Amino acid sequence: MRELMEKIREEGEAISDHVLKVDRFLNHQVDPELMMRIGENFADAFRNEGITKVLTLESSGISPALMTAYILKVPLLFARKRKSLTLQNDLYTANVYSFTKQEYTEISVSRSFLQKDDRVLIIDDFLANGQAALGLTGIVQQAGAEVAGIGIVIEKAFQDGGEQLRRLGFRVVSLARITSLKEGVQFAEEVMC
Ligand code: 5GP
Repeated sequence: MRELMEKIREEGEAISDHVLKVDRFLNHQVDPELMMRIGENFADAFRNEGITKVLTLESSGISPALMTAYILKVPLLFARKRKSLTLQNDLYTANVYSFTKQEYTEISVSRSFLQKDDRVLIIDDFLANGQAALGLTGIVQQAGAEVAGIGIVIEKAFQDGGEQLRRLGFRVVSLARITSLKEGVQFAEEVMC
C-alpha cells in the first residue's frame, strides 16, 4: 500500500535495527483517514472469505481492525491484555510473549463472543516474531472457529513471524513489508525492483 509506505518513510522512526516507532499515525496519535484506507485494503483482500468477525489485540490493533470491521459490516472483537478477576472459566486465553515489552502477557476473549461457525479475520498493527498473531489464532481455534485470514499493517519481513504463519497455512496479507531498518526503512517491493 503505497500511501502507507510513504507515511512510514515520512513519519516513522527506526529506534533500533529491529523496532519501528509509528506513534505519529498508528500507535499513539492515530490518522483516521489512513486507518479507513487501511480498512478498505483489508476488506478488499478478504471480502470473499465469508468473514463473520474481526479479531485483534488491544490497544494498537483496534484502529485498523475497527475500520476493517466497519467496512465488512461485522463486529470487531479485541482480546484483552489485563487479567479478568472473575469468570476465568468463561474465557479463551493464550500466553503471548511481547516483542516490545519482552515479557509474557495473558490475552483473553470472552467465550460468549466467539462461536464454532465464526470465520475470523485477525488484524494486527505489526508482525515481528508472530507471537501475538499465533496467540490470536490459538484463541480462535479454542472456540472451534476458523481463521479465515490474517491482515497485518506493517510486517517486518526480517523477523520470522510471517514465514511461520504462512508455513502453518494461514493466508497473511501485509500492507507494508519492511526488509530492513538499517540505514533507513527498506521495503520488500523496492528490494525486488
Ligand atoms: P510479534 O508478536 O509478532 O513478535 O510482535 C507483534 C506485536 O508486537 C504487535 O502487536 C506490536 O504491538 C508489537 N511490535 C512488534 N514489533 C514492533 C515494532 O517494530 N514497532 C512497534 N511499534 N510495535 C511492534
